[in-house]
Amino acid sequence: MKSHAESNRLMARAEKIIPGGVNSPVRAFAGVGGSPVFLARGQGARVWDVDGNEYLDCVGSWGPLILGHARKEVVEAACEAAHRGTTFGAPCAQEVALAQAITSALPSVEQVRLVNSGTEAVMTAVRLARAFTGRPKVVTFEGGYHGHSDGLLARAGSGLATLGLPVCPGVPANWAADTLVVPYNDLAAVHSLLETRGREIACVLVEPVAGNMGVVLPQEGFLEELRRATLESGSLLIFDEVITGFRVHHGGAQTRYGISPDLTVLGKIIGGGFPIGAVGGRREIMQMLSPCGPVYQAGTLSGNPVACAAGLTTLKLLAAEDPYPQLENRGRVLAERIRQDASRAGVPVVVNQLASMLTVFFHGGKVTDYQTASTADKGSYAEFFHALLAGGVYLPPSQWEAMFLSAAHTDDDIQLIGQAVDQAFQDLAAHRQP
Ligand code: PMP
Repeated sequence: MKSHAESNRLMARAEKIIPGGVNSPVRAFAGVGGSPVFLARGQGARVWDVDGNEYLDCVGSWGPLILGHARKEVVEAACEAAHRGTTFGAPCAQEVALAQAITSALPSVEQVRLVNSGTEAVMTAVRLARAFTGRPKVVTFEGGYHGHSDGLLARAGSGLATLGLPVCPGVPANWAADTLVVPYNDLAAVHSLLETRGREIACVLVEPVAGNMGVVLPQEGFLEELRRATLESGSLLIFDEVITGFRVHHGGAQTRYGISPDLTVLGKIIGGGFPIGAVGGRREIMQMLSPCGPVYQAGTLSGNPVACAAGLTTLKLLAAEDPYPQLENRGRVLAERIRQDASRAGVPVVVNQLASMLTVFFHGGKVTDYQTASTADKGSYAEFFHALLAGGVYLPPSQWEAMFLSAAHTDDDIQLIGQAVDQAFQDLAAHRQP
């Protein structure tokens, strides 16, 4: 039995002075029950908690750590930059180099503006789309996540023509109303919306591979048709590649699927583990940003030299080492192993996987959208999660999040995760015996 005494002590202190004890909600383990483990150290594919327990990490800080924890070259680049000054609020060479690496990797991105988080980057992308088209409305997909800005915390109203409703108190109804929410992978809904209200729609904003309702893949033709239909209606297509950028391919999901969005949002990997975000795209749209255009956007720490140095080193290592085929293979092997273990134990699961991102849904059928994802069995996932935690594997503490593998996971690590998964399914099956 692992002891979590120190984690529990820290959580008790944290809860007194930080709402819910955490600085981002999913970390609180509300999705799986129990109290979170506080992490003290990470190296490669492993993390250690404050009680000294070791875990194989399948979260990777929710995606940034595609090279694993504390990769030597990335840490050195960040330290070197920090020794020369942590922030200037003036132009620095590192931001030019990072912008160059991004525009070289993503052909649709002719110009890029660096910001501090994915949330910020999406906000700017939407503002640009509205300014460029002169239209007010944004189309998003149910179960997608684009950060916590007011207008995007909207859920579907009833009926397609209905305006979005706030998902939480504090979001003004008329801000959410400009967001129209349709089911992921539902082209009929998109067509109907663009046909009836196309002239009001500034942009269609989509995660090209959904990662925030668990991993849900775009069905064949979905992204292609979004491109065609938005061109026809004069709306912009925005790919939110905060997760998929430099993850599912060096050139992001847009390169993998061969689609050129008008604007792209990035985050996570491009900061090498430091806070960052980016919005990029067609030059004529990006030129609308201040100071060359009228669309205002700014940030004291934007283009921060430490984050840019870490991000640039990460992108350079990814280009030089090309870990993608290996990540692809390890993702596939792990997904297949989980399916087999579950099947042997008689536990119905669906494993959605693309490259190094995957989700084990406790669900008997296919998971293709939020409707199907939301009917997964959260209780079984929680049992699975805790069995794996006890077995030394750290999974996302929610049924509706993605697992991420890194280039630091070896074949042996995948085997070890597989063994822990096998044991977890057997425990689950044993508990289900009458
Ligand atoms: N877009 C997507 C697709 C995301 O997954 C996230 C965060 N997980 C965001 C935007 C927001 O990014 P951040 O947490 O950096 O604000």
